[in-house]
Amino acid sequence: MLQLKDQVLSKKALPVVDLSEMGALFVDMINLMQQHNGVGLAAPQAGISKRVFIFTLNTGAIEMAINPQIKQKIGAMIPSEEGCLSHPGLQVTVPRFPEIQAAYYDVSGTFRSRHLKGQEAIIFQHEMDHINGKTILSYIK
Ligand SMILES: [Zn+2]
Repeated sequence: MLQLKDQVLSKKALPVVDLSEMGALFVDMINLMQQHNGVGLAAPQAGISKRVFIFTLNTGAIEMAINPQIKQKIGAMIPSEEGCLSHPGLQVTVPRFPEIQAAYYDVSGTFRSRHLKGQEAIIFQHEMDHINGKTILSYIK
């Protein structure tokens, strides 16, 4: 797990060009996330500067999001108390949208458009920040 000092965490990650054969990375990322009791993990946290992350849906299922985008932000921003696997012990209040319309390719390369709400929406926004080189430290005033 990469920590704050690692520069890859503050770089804007590059799009994934070849959507095939993401299965091995998916398994590796799930293992790394679960070792740290996380609910989401972005590839840059594993040292891979690509636009891909995993996140936990409200159903408990773990989904891979490749080249993800937030298509629509819905509702007024709410304060979210967040930790990050790359910054153990730190809790920061971050403004997040309660609902979003998200679009991405899943681990099988299938395009997904999903309406996310609550916890899953917040995790998605946190992981989007990671692939844009932004961490919860950016929100400390
Ligand atoms: Zn994080």
